[in-house]
Amino acid sequence: MIDDIAEKIGDGERLSLEDGLRLFSHPNVSELGMLADQVRWEKHPSARVTFNIGRNINYTNVCWVRCKFCSFYRPPGHEEGYTLPDNEIFQKIENLISVGGDTPDSCEILMQGGLNPHLKLDYYEHLFSEISVRYPAVYIHSLSVAEIVYIAHLSKVSIEETLVRLRAAGLQSLPGAGAEILDDEVREQIADRKETTDEWLDVHRTAHRIGMNSTATMMFGSTETIEHRIRHLLSVRDLQDEAHQNTNGHFTAFIAWSFQPEGTELEGVRKATGYDYLRTVAISRLFLDNIKNVQASYVTQGPKIAQIALRYGINDFGSTMMEENVISAGGVSFVMRTDEIQRLISDAGFEPQRRNTRYESVDA
Ligand code: SF4
Repeated sequence: MIDDIAEKIGDGERLSLEDGLRLFSHPNVSELGMLADQVRWEKHPSARVTFNIGRNINYTNVCWVRCKFCSFYRPPGHEEGYTLPDNEIFQKIENLISVGGDTPDSCEILMQGGLNPHLKLDYYEHLFSEISVRYPAVYIHSLSVAEIVYIAHLSKVSIEETLVRLRAAGLQSLPGAGAEILDDEVREQIADRKETTDEWLDVHRTAHRIGMNSTATMMFGSTETIEHRIRHLLSVRDLQDEAHQNTNGHFTAFIAWSFQPEGTELEGVRKATGYDYLRTVAISRLFLDNIKNVQASYVTQGPKIAQIALRYGINDFGSTMMEENVISAGGVSFVMRTDEIQRLISDAGFEPQRRNTRYESVDA
């Protein structure tokens, strides 16, 4: 029975770790969906489901970190390692603009790559400046915490200086990539060379302090326990409280996606089921009372589960992506056209609304 928790939610009270443990063990997933849907309508009292036109650009796959859950990277010196030439990056952006139009800031690029020892701060400053000058339609929502920390380390400057300089060059917001599970015990098991939980939180804290928005993610279904997932949500919620009290930047959205074991060192891990995904997104919506937008992850779940998730607390369908290499290196990825996203949203009984990365409406 979760009547007391439902009452707390109805009264706008915050959920605790114990509430989370009970919700995760509650067998009736539809009931969790109904609670999450109720909160979704309180935060977004209209049938609009938003989506963005954007693309990933995986500019380099060279990476020395060797995360156990990753099949995308190639170690430095490997014959399959690449760094895209600028012209190829510009070509990808032009393809995006041909789909998304040239209204300023209407097309999102999510540049994400490995930790490449040859790419220092000046590489990114030059690239982002070029993109900003050439393509005003593009909103640069790029680089994971691991990349920021490594760029700062390689370039011998602080995290704050790195972010300030990247912002001056054109970086507008930070994606939540690399959060995996914000617990050092789990990080030690799946990505022992990557930043710690505190480092991940601190990069986002710094971004918020300088007035830059970011998103938060959670990759679940690897080696973590349910308690780890809830602690992750609590860490994100606490940082958002801090952001709302002290800074101009904050998390604009939360995205949960499930670990894809194919081709990774953790191939023996059994994939999260559809119900596990729906339960996790519904509970995320219930816990994250201070984050307005919760995005579907159709890249890992496929369009059908993402569509159902619209009744489990999700109000946003994410971005068109156009290509995706990090997750698809493991053999699993769904990339969708705009009209297909619109069809899925309409068919679920909602109204598709294009947005930009700031969650402002963009005319289709
Ligand atoms: S997840 Fe990122 S940091 Fe880890 S190995 Fe893959 S590319 Fe490198």
